[in-house]
Amino acid sequence: MIRFDDVHKSFGSHQVLKGVTAGIGKGEVVCLIGPSGSGKSTLLRCVNGLETYQSGRIAIDGQPVDAESSGIHDIRTRVSMVFQRFNLFPHRTALENVMEGPLYVLRQDAAEVRERAVALLTRVGLADKVNAYPGSLSGGQQQRVAIARALAMQPQAILFDEPTSALDPEMVGEVLQVMRALAEEHMTMLVVTHEIQFAREVADSVLFLDGGRIVEQGPAGEILRNPKHERTQDFLRRVT
Ligand code: ADP
Ligand code: MG
Repeated sequence: MIRFDDVHKSFGSHQVLKGVTAGIGKGEVVCLIGPSGSGKSTLLRCVNGLETYQSGRIAIDGQPVDAESSGIHDIRTRVSMVFQRFNLFPHRTALENVMEGPLYVLRQDAAEVRERAVALLTRVGLADKVNAYPGSLSGGQQQRVAIARALAMQPQAILFDEPTSALDPEMVGEVLQVMRALAEEHMTMLVVTHEIQFAREVADSVLFLDGGRIVEQGPAGEILRNPKHERTQDFLRRVT
């Protein structure tokens, strides 16, 4: 579903991705872990064209990602992203936030979009918050609205960039629970996270990125229980 082949990316003379090769199969959950500054967000942002890359290739379901081509709009409707800081529209209700993309980007029928948005908010446990504004919601609730918004686009895959890092500890569980349910429904997910327990339980495989290179990748159980590289071992010691 998502394929990286020798992806290189620099900001000016600063090389951030130094040849990333990896793949995420349809219905797979892949956790991307690694130290701060290793290029995790940059790699995610390249997938839906929020950043350009200099060489190599990223493809979604066989279609190459090129941030500067018109096809990128199509890619963005097929791959949703959930950010650390929710990025909801503050002057729109939860329901309006969820309806926005299908209504104005996909130009779908308003009545159908509304019905589906209510169903999605119900699915993430927010049936009673459809008319609430983001400012009146907790961080965990806002992030669940953001996940409902991502799902409203009926994407082929969802990218999560540290979806629980900005949350108070007591709200992490409710967001991970929603993500766990998505994984059980075989949503294709690429998740940047420091929640190693979540990765261990939910991920099919783990990519460990360090200094712009994938140092280790493989089945979650294996890598998290028995990392081979010293850098992975160090990292896991620090976050667990
Ligand atoms: P991570 O998400 O793993 O913490 P990032 O992908 O955010 O890492 O950043 C990787 C490196 O790229 C860092 O050194 C960061 O400072 C640099 N970087 C990220 N975005 C930009 C940008 N827009 N301009 C210049 N440098 C950037
Ligand atoms: Mg990041």
